[in-house]
Amino acid sequence: MDWDAFAHWGKHISDWAADYHKTLPERPVRAQTSPGEIAAQLPPKPPETAEAMEDVLSDFERIVMPGITHWQHPRFFAYFSANAAPPSMLAEMLVTTIAAQCMLWQTSPAATEMEGVMVDWLRQALGLPEGYTGVIQDSASSATLSAVLSMRERATGYTGNRDGLCAKGNLRIYCSDQVHSSIDRACWVAGIGQENLVKLPTTGPRYALDVDALRKVIADDLDAGHTPAGIIAITGGTGVGASDELGPVLDVAREHDLYTHLDAAWAGAAMICPELRAEFWQGVDGYDSIVFNPHKWLGAQFDCSIQFLADPQPQLNTLKIEPEYLKTSGDAVTNYSEWTIPLGRRFRALKIWFLIRSYGLEGLRQRIRNHVSWSCELCEHIRGMEGFEIVTEPILSLFSFRCPGDDSNQQRLVDALNDDGRIYITQGAFDGRKVIRFQVGQFDTTREDVMMAGDVIEDVWRKTA
Ligand SMILES: *Cc1c(COP(=O)(O)O)cnc(C)c1O
Repeated sequence: MDWDAFAHWGKHISDWAADYHKTLPERPVRAQTSPGEIAAQLPPKPPETAEAMEDVLSDFERIVMPGITHWQHPRFFAYFSANAAPPSMLAEMLVTTIAAQCMLWQTSPAATEMEGVMVDWLRQALGLPEGYTGVIQDSASSATLSAVLSMRERATGYTGNRDGLCAKGNLRIYCSDQVHSSIDRACWVAGIGQENLVKLPTTGPRYALDVDALRKVIADDLDAGHTPAGIIAITGGTGVGASDELGPVLDVAREHDLYTHLDAAWAGAAMICPELRAEFWQGVDGYDSIVFNPHKWLGAQFDCSIQFLADPQPQLNTLKIEPEYLKTSGDAVTNYSEWTIPLGRRFRALKIWFLIRSYGLEGLRQRIRNHVSWSCELCEHIRGMEGFEIVTEPILSLFSFRCPGDDSNQQRLVDALNDDGRIYITQGAFDGRKVIRFQVGQFDTTREDVMMAGDVIEDVWRKTA
């Protein structure tokens, strides 16, 4: 393909992109295909000779598009939204065009320097104190794994990487039973083991980690000769939005000199609203590592996960490696690949810059405030529906409910709603029961979209009951 053809198709695709987004409300949110349907339409063998871009693109429309679930649809209420605000998409087009590997300062100084400034913009936006630095990772899973590795290395006097873990005894990590599965995975991969990830019960209206239970289990572990290594707290758990009391958890960590990581992957974005901080962010100052995903509620196209660090040194001691081919002259620069597990890095800071400049923090706050208030409004509507029960009250813009009947009725309603296509929601579990999760977070969602969900739920429920 020559660059004139590239320019032609590039314009075609950006027009297509705008049309796609404008027609989203008319499309079913979840793909309506069955397993194998798309694969069956793809030739089993690669072509030996070149094909025309016209043909590739027309097959894209015909074969691929029916198999897409529309994450940017304004009636996407499943999981958590993964927003791609238009300015962040434009930035990604530029990043794709430049296609730089931003592993070291010298491999693209602008990427490194902008990353430092964007992390600091977001630090201020989230009300974190001066002194925090950080790094942009691909996902919260990677940031959490980095933090768990730092816990492991710090607790072993930074000898785990060298010696392996055979003689290190049981390193223990503590959290509530509401944590995301990425925490389990990080503990598997870091060699901590599921048995040494101690999940504790929660208390109170925000399902916060029971701090008395935490104190007691650490004391028992010390008696048993185990080595406490770290605590993972959450603000806005994935299931029902569980949020820990950050200050009291941090106090326990300090009593035992434990490394702390806070998972605010989803709810971190809402902390740009100062009025929400009293409830969710009190005591955040002092956490060693904090992860939040601008690629969820804030609007920066996936992937974009910020890991704030009170002191990057433990993570650098854990992950930095410097073979001859990566050495650069001068130490006055930051080489972000030393802070993370992958070496190669995309220029992720650019989309944050485009996003924040295009909306201003106030424009982004307005969306989050709307989502929270519309979610509460819909929750009241569902509470009033005959036989329906609110299981967990709204935490930010997330709540869960049940329709009349047993667990299989819940799944049947979720499946029927998603087959209907007007909205998309997913199920969860709470207190041993299946629940229907509802979250508002898509960038273009309107109040009408949210309230329509209530009517659709009632309508589909009547048809399936
Ligand atoms: C989404 C989410 C994660 C995982 O995020 P990835 O970036 O997909 O790895 C972790 N924790 C919480 C609370 C989340 O909501």
